[in-house]
Amino acid sequence: MDQVDVTIIGAGIVGLAAAWQTAAPDRRVLLLERHESFGRETSSRNSEVIHAGIYYPTGSLKGRFCVEGNRRIYQLCEQHRLPHLRCGKLIVAVTEADEEQLEDLRQKGEANGAEQLQVIGREQIRRLEPAVNARAALLCPTSGVVDTHSLMKFYEASASQAGAEIAYGIEVQRLEPTANGWLVGVRDTSGDNYEYASRVVVNCAGLESGELAAAAGIDQDAAGYRINYCKGMYCRLGNGKEKLTRSLIYPVPTHSGSVGIHTCPDTGGGMRLGPHDVWVDSIEYSVEANLRETVYHAVAPFLPFLEPADLQLDTAGIHPKIQKPGEPLQDYIVQHEVERGLPGLINLIGIESPGVTASPALGSYVAAMVDDITL
Ligand SMILES: Cc1cc2nc3c(=O)[nH]c(=O)nc-3n(C[C@H](O)[C@H](O)[C@H](O)COP(=O)(O)OP(=O)(O)OC[C@H]3O[C@@H](n4cnc5c(N)ncnc54)[C@H](O)[C@@H]3O)c2cc1C
Repeated sequence: MDQVDVTIIGAGIVGLAAAWQTAAPDRRVLLLERHESFGRETSSRNSEVIHAGIYYPTGSLKGRFCVEGNRRIYQLCEQHRLPHLRCGKLIVAVTEADEEQLEDLRQKGEANGAEQLQVIGREQIRRLEPAVNARAALLCPTSGVVDTHSLMKFYEASASQAGAEIAYGIEVQRLEPTANGWLVGVRDTSGDNYEYASRVVVNCAGLESGELAAAAGIDQDAAGYRINYCKGMYCRLGNGKEKLTRSLIYPVPTHSGSVGIHTCPDTGGGMRLGPHDVWVDSIEYSVEANLRETVYHAVAPFLPFLEPADLQLDTAGIHPKIQKPGEPLQDYIVQHEVERGLPGLINLIGIESPGVTASPALGSYVAAMVDDITL
């Protein structure tokens, strides 16, 4: 293969958005994915929520990209008829202690740029969601749900149309700095190895992003790039109970930064409850047998109509976290590694939630970094 301008590793939702935004007529962009199609990992194993930007520290990349991404995803969905729900969200307070946190959350969200946030009382909750039990709630009308498969398909088609080349079944195994960029070593599904030169490499490898940074010569522990795995598991709600609420219903977040087990309506009329998060040592997607009880006990205070028999075990996904258990939530790392003596390498590390929502904004940010390197 000849020289390419930009290699993007990983066709999850972020790599696809980056390929779309980076592709240009005078630039050869190659998106490489080890699986047979896009979105086989975290990007198809999540809650599909278009977040509003409430939870993140003011000034963080997470908050900024989330608010921008929220606006842009609705625009894309409307322009290109992608399945989505503008269903809004209620963060519900069941206890007095919960209620005391709502105003803080509202102010944090507003400082991030989340719009139309309002603390409401029992009567208004009853009008919006008659089946829900809560004494107060933070109403967030700009939260919603997107069909992530359709959004990724749109990014894939748009990237191809803009001139990006997309290769599936190709695993990047080696990254070596050269005088003018990078030597990229890959293996295809038949086991054959190739190498080629790329001016810029963008690491969007999700759960493997720390390992790829290490392959490029970075000490991932010293840099804080090692990915820790936190598995989020879901139940599916049935017996007609999936029709009893329409909004996203969330508890007040915990102090550890978890958003808690919530309703996840989907664009097909279904409903999941989750995720229940547990730290794990390896990438595997099994779902605990006692998940139904855990989910039931977590949501029964605000979904009083629920019975354990309404829940079926469903899927799981893994949050790519750079913090370890018990450590405070970290911001995204989106870094051109020029100061580490590795010009032309852009690492995206720790792209956990709200990565679906943030994807268009992350894509544009990467494209601007690539412009800075190549222009
Ligand atoms: C339980 C859960 C719930 C979530 N809920 C939400 C939500 O409601 N809203 C929201 O906005 N976000 C949510 N998120 C976060 C969101 O899903 C992620 O931030 C997002 O999907 C990350 O996308 P990505 O493209 O960075 O990574 P991935 O989807 O993991 O994609 C990385 C890709 O890189 C490929 N790859 C890895 N190594 C190589 C290699 N060596 N060579 C070639 N390819 C490689 C992988 O195969 C993979 O396809 C949730 C996440 C989880 C786990």
